[in-house]
Amino acid sequence: MADVHVLWITAGLSCDGDSVSITAASQPSIEDVLLGAIPGLPTVHLHNQVLAYELGGDNDSFMQWYDKAERGELDPFVLVVEGSIPNEKIKSEGYWAALGTDAATGQPITTAEWVDRLAPKALAVIAIGTCATYGGIHAMQGNPTGAMGLLDYLGWNWKTPAGLPIICVPGCPVQPDNFMETVLYLLYQVAGMAPMIPLDEAHRPTWLFGKTVHEGCDRAGYYEIGDFATEYGSPKCLVKLGCWGPVVNCNVPKRGWMAGIGGCPNVGGICIGCTMPGFPDKFMPFMDPPPGSKMSSSIIGIYGGIISPLRKITQHTANKEPAWRRKGRELTTGYRGRW
Ligand code: SF4
Ligand code: SF4
Repeated sequence: MADVHVLWITAGLSCDGDSVSITAASQPSIEDVLLGAIPGLPTVHLHNQVLAYELGGDNDSFMQWYDKAERGELDPFVLVVEGSIPNEKIKSEGYWAALGTDAATGQPITTAEWVDRLAPKALAVIAIGTCATYGGIHAMQGNPTGAMGLLDYLGWNWKTPAGLPIICVPGCPVQPDNFMETVLYLLYQVAGMAPMIPLDEAHRPTWLFGKTVHEGCDRAGYYEIGDFATEYGSPKCLVKLGCWGPVVNCNVPKRGWMAGIGGCPNVGGICIGCTMPGFPDKFMPFMDPPPGSKMSSSIIGIYGGIISPLRKITQHTANKEPAWRRKGRELTTGYRGRW
């Protein structure tokens, strides 16, 4: 079985939080995958600016893997993109985001250019975190960069030469085991030991994002009896403090954050919908109660038959991106320059 290289671009618009998050994975850990501790997997080499361990120390030795992949000398490789892709076409000079420099011109190579060069040669393309999947914080209304996620940049119907659609593992940041489990699945698929990875309409692995936050929340019992928190620090349901859990696809309350511990509402934080294509705009302002949460406590116990269909409508809307995240030469985010 051929070695698999993972080329992980952290040079999108992001905080590098996904790379940091992955250091906490344990199901499996990144060390287990790279050190060959899991039976049946090919040998894996990781090339990530934050996590790389095979470096001689200078920048050239890191970039050589990207150059080799572009020349078709690295086969197979998986392309992982972290951070949203800014629109480099909306201006006449300068650049928003880049990785490495062109040896001939000495000019930076933009992140968008790397995606153009490498995605068509990759075995699989994975977008890690909500910035890379759907655009995230950088792609909110009024942004100056025209940022978008990989689905908008390459196209929702885009596929690798092997026929794989873009695989999205959203989260702000990504839940570490969600990403590593997706990588593990892909590696088993490469090894011929797993069928095509199942994805939902937003390209998320179905077994990880098929349920809502609410369905896995420790506080759901309070919700059912209409007992709601009115201030932080309460163990009760947080819906009236702004929790969007009932319409958000995410397994974090069930899975926990690190080693099974944590998971936003379980530990007192409202769900702000960070795994959804509509994030953040459709969930703002974050601290306001979401639609339907203003219902009185006495009604909540009997409203299941009415509210369930309404929830489906809201969930459908939250799973759609705002219209301005798209390619082209025009900035359509509503940004107004101050200079
Ligand atoms: S805190 Fe949020 S996710 Fe948990 S039960 Fe309440 S509404 Fe549902
Ligand atoms: S529970 Fe909500 S805020 Fe927390 S990770 Fe999941 S989608 Fe994001």
